[in-house]
Amino acid sequence: MKITLDFLKKINLSLLKEKRKVDTTITSLKSQDPFSDPDRLNDNAASDTDAKEEISHERMQALEKELRLHMSEIEEALLRIKKGIYGKCLSCGKMISIERLTVKPTALYCVDCERKREKK
Ligand SMILES: [Zn+2]
Repeated sequence: MKITLDFLKKINLSLLKEKRKVDTTITSLKSQDPFSDPDRLNDNAASDTDAKEEISHERMQALEKELRLHMSEIEEALLRIKKGIYGKCLSCGKMISIERLTVKPTALYCVDCERKREKK
């Protein structure tokens, strides 16, 4: 099956939607991070809660890192649509199947190459 313009439009739209969603999540994550609270430094009485805050800060950082990675994948996919090379496997150059792109629109490798990469 060949990738149609219609399919690309659909993927493009859902990627843009996903991008907005991730962006919103990162922003709300940052507003929840106790370390980004400017009042925190002046609050000496709350020293016994520091350990707890540390953990959530770490977790938020990890989560944010994950989200940013996802964001760069989305941006990469959008760029590939613009360049007209969307759906082409980065490794072997074959077209990635529509089924795979439907499930994972940010896929850069075909199933075979992805498997080979995972083995490494
Ligand atoms: Zn491949």
